[in-house]
Amino acid sequence: MKTVYLDNNATTRTAPEVVEAMLPFFSELYGNASSMHSFGGQVGKHLARAREQVAALIGAHPAEIIFTSCGTESNNAAIMGTLYSYPEKKHIVICRVEHPAVLNVGHHLQARGYRVTELGVDRQGKLNLDELRASLKEDTALVSIMAANNETGVLFPIDEIAAIAKERGIPFHTDAVQAVGKIPMDMSRSPIDLLSLSGHKLHAPKGIGALYLRKGTKFSPFMIGGHQEGGRRGGTENVPYIVGLGRAAEFVTDHMEEENTRVRALRDRLETELIQRIPNTLINGDPLNRLPNTSNISFEYIEGESILMLLNEEGICASSGSACTSGSLQPSHVLRAMGVPFTAAHGSVRFSLSIYNTDADVDHVIKVMPPIIERIREMSPFWKDYQAGKPPSSFLTGGDVEHHVHG
Ligand code: PLP
Repeated sequence: MKTVYLDNNATTRTAPEVVEAMLPFFSELYGNASSMHSFGGQVGKHLARAREQVAALIGAHPAEIIFTSCGTESNNAAIMGTLYSYPEKKHIVICRVEHPAVLNVGHHLQARGYRVTELGVDRQGKLNLDELRASLKEDTALVSIMAANNETGVLFPIDEIAAIAKERGIPFHTDAVQAVGKIPMDMSRSPIDLLSLSGHKLHAPKGIGALYLRKGTKFSPFMIGGHQEGGRRGGTENVPYIVGLGRAAEFVTDHMEEENTRVRALRDRLETELIQRIPNTLINGDPLNRLPNTSNISFEYIEGESILMLLNEEGICASSGSACTSGSLQPSHVLRAMGVPFTAAHGSVRFSLSIYNTDADVDHVIKVMPPIIERIREMSPFWKDYQAGKPPSSFLTGGDVEHHVHG
């Protein structure tokens, strides 16, 4: 059976061009870039090139790029590295719909005496900028708001947020792991101070990321060790993966327009057809300000997990909520923060496309989805109650069950 991969916000296929660029660095070019000899030194040239490629993708200067092991590390480094630089400041501002790689850093800090403001979002997943302004305090060390939400694709006005923080002299970090490579980003025209990105969301392998650190921004290393990365991140550079990330940066630049036209059209067709063919179906998140590849759809009165299982039998890979929360039967913290009713949040499925998807992929989903939903609804007591005009059971209205994010 052909696999129809629609889970690109979880991870992407490593582009063959990227694999090809990496291969020599596992065989003949295995030197250490920090070595004095020319065998290692020649590798340094390739590191420098990758740094230029990644910088070019986000309109940065190469010296502003720090290679890390992943998006999670970049987020940790951005937050902790800023806090280390402002030891007297004990407050940070984040958002309730952040990825666990920011949200749980917030919880970790809170347990250690920091005050963490978690800004809420509205029904469309949007932040209230007046609430942001009001949350800034004398001892706010950092504002960290994601660029694009991984579950809904909703975009945040990060330049505007950075400008608001800057007015108060507060550094601004954005977790742009889902945005970079999908939409244009230009640090040369933006007030953003720190930005996280991750290789495996943009057709590089898993286990490589980068942190953009604007020149002049106060920062103390989070990964303490050798002098690598200009003394900003210790650890021997992962040369093959860094080269891969550099090549992937070029790859996504070359495909950015296609992502925003053909892929967006595929996503829109998928949504339109599913809504037309399946009753009680709704799209979660601001329909306009969204990543071009992401669709978060709720099929009311059923469980997202059962939908995923039946989609899996048809060779279709999708996700319910973020990759880190799947495995938990509680609805996602993102949809809950948006106030999506439990009856809809339980039955949410995230489809996330990439340039490797085709019309045939979307046709397949459109064909199999209506009978799948019908089959599950036939077995669903919640659907039967709804049709009989009865109120939803406490299971679907949340009861008093606490939500736990895993991983
Ligand atoms: N931030 C966001 C918004 C993400 O979607 C992810 C991955 O799902 C991460 C951070 C973590 O990135 P990584 O898997 O490279 O650690």
